[in-house]
Amino acid sequence: MSKKPGLTVLAGPTAVGKGTVSTYIRDNYPEVWLSVSATTRAPRPGEVDGVHYFFKTKDEFEQLIADGELLEWAVVHGQNTYGTLKSTVNQAIAEGRSVLLEIDLQGARQVKEAVPDAQFVFLAPPTWDEMVRRLVGRGTETPDEQQRRLETAKLELAAEPEFDHTVINDDVRRAADELVSLMGLTPHPHLPEPSAR
Ligand code: 5GP
Repeated sequence: MSKKPGLTVLAGPTAVGKGTVSTYIRDNYPEVWLSVSATTRAPRPGEVDGVHYFFKTKDEFEQLIADGELLEWAVVHGQNTYGTLKSTVNQAIAEGRSVLLEIDLQGARQVKEAVPDAQFVFLAPPTWDEMVRRLVGRGTETPDEQQRRLETAKLELAAEPEFDHTVINDDVRRAADELVSLMGLTPHPHLPEPSAR
């Protein structure tokens, strides 16, 4: 039985397709308020400041931490820092929106401490081999970076029992529809094909 909370956290191993599922939800489910994270990572081609992330310098990010502006934050893959802005999330919850955070496992654990009645959904790969294929197939990371992400992924897979629900990402549309259902919303019939990310 799902909790139907205002706040749902989607986490899971690296390269499981969290980004693809959340992009699909952003494009197809305007009734979901998808949090835009702050990050020190440089934008990838096509990424827009304020839409995909708020791109910050290290100093700016440090200031957000110092000012207590972040609900959670973490260094992901030992490289860049990512965090969720408290003010925008709180406002969306106060407005009664269905809020979705797509964050890493360390962040999900922090949210569980801060907001225990949030709903925590683990996005799992259909198989380990499929996850490796997706990671290598993306082609945007160096071999060293891919190796680092795989090591992280192994640890992250073991965290599944900490979550309220598991959604298998065997198909982006199906997974997104299941997630939306868990958020207490009605999945749309006949959605368009997901756009590549
Ligand atoms: P990418 O650099 O590929 O966009 O994202 C890398 C990782 O950062 C993903 O696993 C994503 O879930 C995570 N991430 C994105 N935003 C946040 C955030 O606000 N907080 C945390 N803890 N992780 C985040």
